[in-house]
Amino acid sequence: MTNEDAKVIPVRVALRCRPLVPKEINEGCQCCLTFVPGEPQVIVGTEKAFTYDYVFDPTAEQEEVFNTAVSSLLNGLFKGYHATVLAYGQTGSGKTFSMGGTYTSAQENDPSVGVIPRVIQRIFKERESRTDCEFSLAVSYLEIYNEDILDLLCASKDKPSLSIREDPKEGIKIVGLTEKQVFSAYEMVGCLELGNSARTVGSTAMNAASSRSHAIFTITLEQRRGTDKVDSVVSKLHLVDLAGSERQKKTKAEGDRLKEGISINRGLLSLGNVISALGDESKKNAFVPYRDSKLTRLLQDSLGGNSHTLMIACISPADSNMEETINTLRYADRAR
Ligand code: ADP
Ligand code: MG
Repeated sequence: MTNEDAKVIPVRVALRCRPLVPKEINEGCQCCLTFVPGEPQVIVGTEKAFTYDYVFDPTAEQEEVFNTAVSSLLNGLFKGYHATVLAYGQTGSGKTFSMGGTYTSAQENDPSVGVIPRVIQRIFKERESRTDCEFSLAVSYLEIYNEDILDLLCASKDKPSLSIREDPKEGIKIVGLTEKQVFSAYEMVGCLELGNSARTVGSTAMNAASSRSHAIFTITLEQRRGTDKVDSVVSKLHLVDLAGSERQKKTKAEGDRLKEGISINRGLLSLGNVISALGDESKKNAFVPYRDSKLTRLLQDSLGGNSHTLMIACISPADSNMEETINTLRYADRAR
């Protein structure tokens, strides 16, 4: 471990603002944000400036986001550190676009491809270039919906809800979750697509296909070094497309939908508490409330400690979304 590695910043925050979408332009929405040139800052209306580790304005391409904010996490992963990338924001703010969750292999060289497919390409490139060790790769894909954990790589229609177990040696384990060994980028992308097609989607007044669940795509990398290849290091990368952060009144939620909304907020609420406890130097030895939700329990061994976390906070530039945008800016500000 070099000195630089030892000085781990547990959570970095990237703010990403998408361009106005055609619907917003048609409705006459205006951009309510100012980006400070050369500074990682954004100003909303006449409010104070918010500062993050990185700020990507609407002109930022997927490649820039990956190279600037995600790539260094992968360097850590190859050195044996766990890492987590979380996309946070209201429905329609660009979480799935940024994570690249709607990937199809036909789009491989498309500049609009997001984080997950870029991560996959990079990992397999790294594997090819490494002669000093052997890589084994496995993936799992799950969603948390109403505090139930569902296996997205399980073919059965009536999926049982899975439970979390803490193994003293292996850390957090989800009992019965499919862990698929993969041997090529093509195969790993196949798992992503298979899981995407199994995701639960619900419609709300805000977005016809809005996702009300957290989706977690996990890549486990085992590196075996030495001539006999017995010296093994295992590191995990979680790529998380969080549920929409919007508050309930905007979505006109009722009945079932409302119940969903409440438990989704529980995950996001405890994630905010965990991340803010991790980032606060003055609370170095303070209690970190991982156990308050399935989301934070599941990510427990990959948030904090020696792990690297990146939160991509996604926002819309439209004045019609200003209230939710300010909520996201504040949530992300607490994370720093
Ligand atoms: P979310 O997953 O947060 O609900 P989406 O990723 O589905 O939001 O994005 C909503 C819409 O905005 C989609 O049509 C998407 O293609 C578009 N979009 C999001 N981010 C960008 C971006 N950076 N550049 C161009 N279009 C974007
Ligand atoms: Mg989405």
